[in-house]
Amino acid sequence: MLPTHCDTLISARWIITVEHDGEVLENHSVAIEKGHIVAILPTAAAAGIASDEHIDLGQQVLMPGLVNLHGHSSMTLLRGLADDKTLMDWLNNHIWPAEGRHVRDDFVFDGSLLAMAEMIRCGTTTINDMYFFHGAVARAGLAAGMRTFVGCSILEFPTNYANNADDYISKALAERREYLGEELVTFTLAPHAPYTVSDDTFRKVVTLAEEEDMLIHCHIHETADEVEGGVREHHQRPLARLKALGLLTPRLIAAHMVHLSEEEVALAARHGLSIAHNPSSNMKLASGIAPVKALLDAGANVGLGTDGAASNNKLDMLAETRLAALLAKVGTGDPTAVPAATAIRMATLNGARALGLGERTGSVRVGKEADLIAIDLARVETAPAFDPVSHVVYAAGREQVSHVWVKGRPLLKAHRLVTLDEQDLLGRAEDWRNRILSH
Ligand SMILES: [Zn+2]
Repeated sequence: MLPTHCDTLISARWIITVEHDGEVLENHSVAIEKGHIVAILPTAAAAGIASDEHIDLGQQVLMPGLVNLHGHSSMTLLRGLADDKTLMDWLNNHIWPAEGRHVRDDFVFDGSLLAMAEMIRCGTTTINDMYFFHGAVARAGLAAGMRTFVGCSILEFPTNYANNADDYISKALAERREYLGEELVTFTLAPHAPYTVSDDTFRKVVTLAEEEDMLIHCHIHETADEVEGGVREHHQRPLARLKALGLLTPRLIAAHMVHLSEEEVALAARHGLSIAHNPSSNMKLASGIAPVKALLDAGANVGLGTDGAASNNKLDMLAETRLAALLAKVGTGDPTAVPAATAIRMATLNGARALGLGERTGSVRVGKEADLIAIDLARVETAPAFDPVSHVVYAAGREQVSHVWVKGRPLLKAHRLVTLDEQDLLGRAEDWRNRILSH
């Protein structure tokens, strides 16, 4: 039965539902009530629904919000500080010294806000983050109105935030307690990587994740060096070691997974973990090409991420979606690998599933929460529009993203940020530039 009233009615030339790959509804409207999608119907039939606000998007496409499945938001403040270096030169001589001097609560808060403004403007509604000073990330997420997964980094060595693995864990749990009632904020356990975390700590993380019902977010098999180093130190490949430690479950979001054997692809699919594929970062750091087609063919859940702005350097999920489709073709020599509709599903529903939100967001369906975005295709760059699915992936740029809603609340309206103040953010970024340059 159709509702007679809704809070917001959105009408669009096209709706990409992501319920079925490539499904597009033409001239349809979506009715939203209390943050949920309560009806999807032809616009001609929507006149009977009274709404507090009717947004007629005209020649635009409405689709689910993009889910950034792997990022380090506040590294925006280190964007462009050092590029075109080897990974170890970049980390040892540039990134880690700068982090050591500057990363504190205020750095993480300002950097996260800047990242979220950028992410909202490219249609991102959810960020799966991993960093330090978790309260600052959570506060930024609440200010921005994004769904924010606050990944609590766990390492064996000290940083500005904590001294050792137990200290990282206890601080993470204490900060998490303060945000337990916040619907849009979820804390996750983020053991950094197999080469920075011990067996003992991984075991603690697995137990804690079970007890507290938390997701685990970890960098895995990012580079060939990491895999070789793991074999030297532990006499087995990192993924085999993590399997033995009990990490490989649907709770795990494995970032990167670039270097995988056929058996490891099958293992990932069989254990139901999710993979965050980061095409730009993998290219910029020359990490390699992840076997995304093989993972998808094996039935693994693969989403997309930007990684941090220091290794990308854009937090542009539309760009990652395009690159995921292109890189899969280059990697396999097969132009049919990762078609546009698959790339869109990776950027939306697959990301939502990885985060346990697959039944609540990630597609346009009655009953789901209204995490939606609109992209304006009435531009010379996307004319003529035969197939909006193709245009969103291969032709549209993030400047064409016009509206963003999270649970029905607008974060971007007609290209303008609603929750964040761009001028204020530019001022904060300039202050940090001066501080970082003067050490
Ligand atoms: Zn990362």
